Amino acid sequence: MPVLTYGVFQREDFTCPKCGWTGKGIELQAIELYESMVIDMGCPKCLEYMGCMMAPTTEEYEKFRGEFGD
Ligand SMILES: [Zn+2]
Repeated sequence: MPVLTYGVFQREDFTCPKCGWTGKGIELQAIELYESMVIDMGCPKCLEYMGCMMAPTTEEYEKFRGEFGD
């Protein structure tokens, strides 16, 4: 299974093998959480599994927010 790197995958292009959706990683939906450490990310349209992400550290999260704004 692909492991998505927080702060990197958001900028990458994804194509859903199921419905053909294409877009950036930042548009993916969180579809499953495992003890708050690993998050399965899926297609925003059909929720097809696209990869898992390790939950970011506070540092990674702050860096990401700084880059993308809110
Ligand atoms: Zn899809």
